[in-house]
Amino acid sequence: MKYIGAHVSASGGVENAPLNAQAIGAKAFALFTRNQRQWKSAPLPENSISLFKERCEEFGYLPKHILPHDSYLINLGHPEEEGLLKSRAAFLDEMQRCEQLGLDLLNFHPGSSLNEMTDEECLTRIAESVNWALGKTNGVCAVIENTAGQGTNLGYTFEQIAYIIDKVEDKSRVGVCIDTAHTLAAGYDIKTEDGFKETFRHFDEVIGFSYLKGMHLNDSKKDMGSRVDRHDSIGKGVMGIIPFQMIMNDSRFDDIPLILETPDESIWADEIKYLYSL
Ligand SMILES: [Zn+2]
Ligand SMILES: [Zn+2]
Repeated sequence: MKYIGAHVSASGGVENAPLNAQAIGAKAFALFTRNQRQWKSAPLPENSISLFKERCEEFGYLPKHILPHDSYLINLGHPEEEGLLKSRAAFLDEMQRCEQLGLDLLNFHPGSSLNEMTDEECLTRIAESVNWALGKTNGVCAVIENTAGQGTNLGYTFEQIAYIIDKVEDKSRVGVCIDTAHTLAAGYDIKTEDGFKETFRHFDEVIGFSYLKGMHLNDSKKDMGSRVDRHDSIGKGVMGIIPFQMIMNDSRFDDIPLILETPDESIWADEIKYLYSL
């Protein structure tokens, strides 16, 4: 079975996210558990935590179908001490929030070298940051999102992601989230049936489906290999419908959160229905 949802708003409190997900007919959802554009956030209030849990239970959202996303400011591979320490502290806070909410997954972008270190040095540092955060928490799995490779962002090839996973000590607490728009922008041809099959054969060979904990379902405004991250609504960008058809009819994508991060939230309910119709 497929669990499709969207990255819903948690404004007014995390307890509003399951309500917003339910309202659009989502079977899964993503959220920010703190302001994604600020370094510091107030702790989660006790009543928000209990309401969040109550509502998830009421609407049948299981932890494995909820994919919190961390702050965009965090760079776990930061070349400089100050930026690295700040990023690690914020990432730990994100993980602890997931623990408090009873959640199992935390989706993050690997990090950027900022042209001040080699890719390998940066990827190694990201793995060290993950090891550090996993050592201070319990249960939450660090889910690496593949990127479009914009600027000096790493994690745009499956090999780079595998390089990080290889250096994470507790393999049971590291996973991967594949974003369709990022995959195409990074240069993987998922627009055709053959290209899609080959991309995920390669994914399975280099990383392995056992690490796949979620997907982001986005069309892309930018074409294959552009290395530019611009999401579009399903069917409105350059992607076409083939990759979504392939995902919906492949049991390897069952039982994980499939999350829309498409720009027009007023049509999320329709996009979810449309995807199920495929
Ligand atoms: Zn992301
Ligand atoms: Zn994404």
